Amino acid sequence: MSTETAAEGRSDFIREIVAEDLRSGRVATVVTRFPPEPNGYLHIGHAKSICLNFGVAREFGGRCHLRFDDTNPTKEEQEYIDAIEADVRWLGFDWGEHLYHASDYFEQLYEWAVHLVRAGKAYVDDLSADEIREHRGTLTEPGRDSPYRGRSVQENLDLFERMRKGEFPDGARVVRAKIDMASGNINLRDPVLYRILQAPHPRTGDAWCVYPTYDFAHGQSDAIEGVTHSLCTLEFEDHRPLYDWFIENLPVPSHPRQFEFARLKLSYTVLSKRFLLKLVNEGRVRGWDDPRMPTISGIRRRGYPAQAIRDFAGIIGVAKRDSVVDVAMLEHCVRDVLNRKAARRFAVLRPLKVVIENYPEGKVEELDAVNNPEDPSAGTRPVRFSRALLIERDDFMEDPPKKFYRLAPGREVRLRYAYLVTCREVVKDARGEIVELRCTYDPATRGGDAPDGRRPKATLHWISAAHAVPAEVRLYEHLFTRPEPGADGDLLADLSPSSEEVLRGCFVEPVVADVAVGEAVQFERLGYFCPDPDSRPGHPVFNRTLTLKDTWLRLQARGREDA
Ligand code: ATP
Ligand code: MG
Repeated sequence: MSTETAAEGRSDFIREIVAEDLRSGRVATVVTRFPPEPNGYLHIGHAKSICLNFGVAREFGGRCHLRFDDTNPTKEEQEYIDAIEADVRWLGFDWGEHLYHASDYFEQLYEWAVHLVRAGKAYVDDLSADEIREHRGTLTEPGRDSPYRGRSVQENLDLFERMRKGEFPDGARVVRAKIDMASGNINLRDPVLYRILQAPHPRTGDAWCVYPTYDFAHGQSDAIEGVTHSLCTLEFEDHRPLYDWFIENLPVPSHPRQFEFARLKLSYTVLSKRFLLKLVNEGRVRGWDDPRMPTISGIRRRGYPAQAIRDFAGIIGVAKRDSVVDVAMLEHCVRDVLNRKAARRFAVLRPLKVVIENYPEGKVEELDAVNNPEDPSAGTRPVRFSRALLIERDDFMEDPPKKFYRLAPGREVRLRYAYLVTCREVVKDARGEIVELRCTYDPATRGGDAPDGRRPKATLHWISAAHAVPAEVRLYEHLFTRPEPGADGDLLADLSPSSEEVLRGCFVEPVVADVAVGEAVQFERLGYFCPDPDSRPGHPVFNRTLTLKDTWLRLQARGREDA
């Protein structure tokens, strides 16, 4: 079953709810939103949420908003906003004219906080953050009322207004909802609605020095935008009663309903913006878009196609229960797309020179090489063959063990699309290092088939030395050494020391030098690769997206045997 058919027509509890709401007329048009906080780059977990929100809107003929939840001016940056927009677009989704910011609603949110104060449902508290935490109680103990909880409406209104005017320093006062300090749900123990932050905001500048909390901004922003289905991850389940309380106690224009689904967790991967920021800041990776990062920009640079991410989101689906997805499944989706799309090319990463002794000096032949066996319309290309070739160092052993079928002294192998060649002599330098192989070829085997039907056990890739283009190739592995990074409490200790290997002195066939950033190729027998943006004229750089070995298929086959 291909990943596309697997993803097709899948439903889940959220799509069932949406379908039922449309059928019953409860909502006329489905409106969802993706609400990132612009305090970092998006990662593959966000991609799950993007595919869900934009996917549901598309499938049910509704719309999906992109809304920046920019309520914390101290951590937010324009760089993140730009990257988020680019990443959502790259994933193949479009918010049209529906680009919003929580900061667009600051005035409205402030008025609604005043509304609660007027109604005696919110108050200004002078306790410090630590004292508020101390008064909050625990899961087993009720909280205690703040001594300022009984302030008059008039005094609260006056203080809130002076907070807004900037009369008090950061942390001096907050506005809290007056709900229930004894509630079993800690979120309802008089949560903070507004805090003082004497910090300019990327969009509102110096207009404000009080900012709404995420909890106070989020649901009301949805209500302002007419969001019908507010989809979020499970950690917000306990916040839902609070969001509903706001909606019930405020004159909001619409009543969104919230539904929670499980966050994506991936083996060998950490999906936390805070930790990813730490990797970037400490220089442990090449940046947010390092090809080992689980960020969307990282996997794009790594060569993962957007289609593969959408396929993956479709296969994992959405559920109510947390589980860890095997990263091999994501890699399977990537291979599945690349196998169909990527042109096959020759590259030699660790070259060993081969001289074909009986091939005429100066002669160059053009042989036909298939571009993609999965796609006959991709046709063929000419590859040049000559007397001096490069093969992969790993493809030769002077003293081969039993199961090594590739080139060895006296042995014949096939050079793909070219000839059968036999190794006659091993040339070494003064230190005993192998520097060259002397071979002969059989002129009757042009194209790779022998008229007498003899079939060597190995077929090797190769490049004509005179026509090879030098390249840098970066090999990537998982960023972490263990499936559950940080299981012992130290994420950094589980960083793999060999997640990146940079190879200089590699060679690729000339057509590869023209591959543009964003395109993928398969280097035959080696894996899928893509040009890195670090490439310069005369110095192409390629990233290994993945090797060819699909561990997911192997795991599944093993599962079937076990069953
Ligand atoms: P992080 O924990 O990495 O900092 P976050 O939840 O703080 O992520 P937001 O910018 O607030 O990041 O997230 C935007 C949306 O993406 C939210 O609706 C959130 O629920 C969703 N999201 C974040 N991480 C995941 C994940 N691992 N799986 C699914 N959805 C996610
Ligand atoms: Mg968040």
